[in-house]
Amino acid sequence: MKDPVQMPESRFLRVACRKCRNDQIVFNKASTVVNCLKCGAELLAPTGGTAEIKGRAARTFT
Ligand SMILES: [Zn+2]
Repeated sequence: MKDPVQMPESRFLRVACRKCRNDQIVFNKASTVVNCLKCGAELLAPTGGTAEIKGRAARTFT
C-alpha cells in the first residue's frame, strides 16, 4: 500500500552554515552527520528519517 503523504522525500538541499556562511549541498536523508567543510560545524544530523537541518536551509533542489 502506497501512501504518498507517508513517503519520505529524498532531495538535495543547499544548507548555509550558521557560523561561517559557507553553503554546501547536502542530502536530506543523510545517515551520518554532515559537517561544514570550512569550519566543521554541524549542518545536518541524522534522525532515522529525514535528517534534521542544523544550518540554514537556503534552497531546495528537486
Ligand atoms: Zn561553517
